[in-house]
Amino acid sequence: MNASLNAERRAAELELLAGGEPVDVVVVGGGITGAGVALDAASRGLSVALLERRDLAHGTSRWSSKLVHGGLRYLEHREFGLAWESARERSLLMRTIAPHLVRPLPFVTPLDAGMPAAKATKTQVGLRIGDGLRIGARTPRRVLPPSRRISALEARRLAPALAEAGLRGALLSWDGQLEDDARLVVAVARSAAAHGARILTYAGVTGVREDGVDAVDALTGAPFSVRARRVILATGVWAGELSPGVELRPSRGSHLLVPAGRLGDPRAAVNVPVPGERGRWVFALPRTDGLVAVGLTDVAADGPVPDVPVPSAEEEATLLEHASAALEVSLGPDDVAGRYAGLRPLLADADPAHPTADLSRRHAVVEDPATGALTVVGGKLTTYRAMAQDAVDRITDRPCRTAKLPLVGARATAGAAGAAPPRLVRRFGAEAAAVAALGSTEPLAPGVPVCEAELRWAAEHELALTPEDLADRRTRAGLVPEWREAVLAAAPATIPGWSSVPSQPPTSTTSTS
Ligand SMILES: Cc1cc2nc3c(=O)[nH]c(=O)nc-3n(C[C@H](O)[C@H](O)[C@H](O)COP(=O)(O)OP(=O)(O)OC[C@H]3O[C@@H](n4cnc5c(N)ncnc54)[C@H](O)[C@@H]3O)c2cc1C
Repeated sequence: MNASLNAERRAAELELLAGGEPVDVVVVGGGITGAGVALDAASRGLSVALLERRDLAHGTSRWSSKLVHGGLRYLEHREFGLAWESARERSLLMRTIAPHLVRPLPFVTPLDAGMPAAKATKTQVGLRIGDGLRIGARTPRRVLPPSRRISALEARRLAPALAEAGLRGALLSWDGQLEDDARLVVAVARSAAAHGARILTYAGVTGVREDGVDAVDALTGAPFSVRARRVILATGVWAGELSPGVELRPSRGSHLLVPAGRLGDPRAAVNVPVPGERGRWVFALPRTDGLVAVGLTDVAADGPVPDVPVPSAEEEATLLEHASAALEVSLGPDDVAGRYAGLRPLLADADPAHPTADLSRRHAVVEDPATGALTVVGGKLTTYRAMAQDAVDRITDRPCRTAKLPLVGARATAGAAGAAPPRLVRRFGAEAAAVAALGSTEPLAPGVPVCEAELRWAAEHELALTPEDLADRRTRAGLVPEWREAVLAAAPATIPGWSSVPSQPPTSTTSTS
């Protein structure tokens, strides 16, 4: 089956489903969890339809820190099972599933005044346990080297903006970094499509029944139904809308994007403990697009779920202050080229007084006794495959295959990515040369790291249906306002037949913004 998703395939498959073609499973939600469930079920041989009310990766899955991490944070909360699951899934992603989208990233934890000896020793012990998990998960040293102590000089070579005064040295450790979280979602969804899954975006589910779902085509406003033996809901922070009995306590996490030059073009991430808060860190993560992501906050986000969350002024000020404390430079609002926030779909615990930072990152699969629908929620981007396996194990005895299944683009065929520019190789892996063949690979405008060929590929193969899909989910130009404008301006002239495509189709399902 073909991994290409586009407007024509969507229209044809929508017609089949709305016309009464039954499927084994309908999956609701096109974030990493829903895409993972669709791939898991389709690769076990089940017939699958996935319905997403906006675009692929429209929700939390595009607002992460883009780390495929080994679960060190969970060790601090004594959640050893979660840490092991993360380390195992990281290993699968980096070795087999998506090695083209995940790279090893060095982390420098400075040993300075903010890191007294006792805390340094505790951190070092944690890193050693992390190394043990890495070895247990069979991640070779050449993929992720072991942690070690380094000199102040070496630390400043890796992260030149680190403050020199009082720096005794640093701890160096390694974790996985995604080129782009939204690209992982698209690659998983296309891999599901290659196994026959029908992937429909702009299809909002309005009701769940025992034998399927009711939905609305957001492009036309037409209602339709899909008949299915089982329903699996993967609607993230929106779970409350269709999943009675699932109680979440969303928390907002925000990042700021700073030009890498301002921090001396670091080659390593810097990790700094937040003074006075157990297990909280601020980090500066170098990205491949010339920006450094400074994060991360953890603020309870009770009340209505916004369509697109934004960082508060207070979070922005706090991040700038904490990051600057460990740096030679003092970051201010003028250094911020872009910003974003996401809502974590955290499962509520018994005590509403617990800070969200202390809530477990575990996932759950919950059955609605009225309809038999399953909801899979919580967890992390890193553990999406395990979450999907748990959910699909509940509806079939057929064995799960995803641990050994490379995503589209993962498997290099001789010379396939050879001649393509590095950005395309990082984002498309083995498909890079095919992308490059579609158009110009020069930047759309000076300083804008997006090319015409990517836009065409997204429309022809990745189900981009609007200029916003291109800017905000396929290329991520949307992270920097000037880059976003360049993509929105280029889209109508670049994509054949798009001169009259409206931006953001009307959504007939209500969002709760
Ligand atoms: C700031 C932040 C940083 C993070 N960093 C990391 C990290 O570095 N590493 C990591 O492993 N994890 C990280 N996470 C966690 C991770 O991002 C999330 O756990 C994960 O993305 C959740 O994915 P999801 O598919 O469950 O939800 P979502 O991505 O939100 O997907 C849910 C989808 O359901 C759709 N939907 C909702 N209602 C309907 C309906 N009625 N009909 C059809 N579709 C519907 C929505 O439009 C949405 O696209 C981070 C989270 C945050 C907030």
